[in-house]
Amino acid sequence: MREPSIFTRILEGEIPSEIIAETENAFAIRDIHPQAPVHLLVIPKSADYRNVVELAAGDPDLLAELVGLANTLAMEHAGGDFRLVFNTGPDAGQTVFHVHAHVLGGRLEEKTLGA
Ligand code: AMP
Repeated sequence: MREPSIFTRILEGEIPSEIIAETENAFAIRDIHPQAPVHLLVIPKSADYRNVVELAAGDPDLLAELVGLANTLAMEHAGGDFRLVFNTGPDAGQTVFHVHAHVLGGRLEEKTLGA
C-alpha cells in the first residue's frame, strides 16, 4: 500500500489548500510554486494512476474529464488559451506520482516548451 499522495492529503483536508474547482472525479488547486501567471493543477480524485500514460490506458473518460476541467478553468482564469503539461517520469520533472495536469496560462510569451 502506497503512502497517500500530497494531492490525496489535500483532497482529504489534511494539508491546507483551496480547492478551486471540482467535478465528479477530479479537482483543481493553485500550484504552490507558480511558473506562469496562471498555474493550476487538475487532478483525479483517485490516486490509482501514476502518470498520464497509465491514465489514458486505464480510464480515458477520466482523462477527458481532466481536459474539460482544464478548459473550464482556463476560460475562467486565463482568457481561454492554455498550455496543458503532464510531466511523465523524474527526468521530465515529475515529482508527484499521482497523475496531474499543469494548466499554464496568462501571458505565455516565451517560445520554448521547457527550460
Ligand atoms: P510535478 O513536478 O509535475 O510532479 O508537479 C507537482 C507540482 O505540485 C509542482 O509544480 C509543485 O509546485 C506542486 N505542489 C507541491 N505541493 C503542493 C501543495 N501543497 N499545493 C499546491 N501545489 C503543490
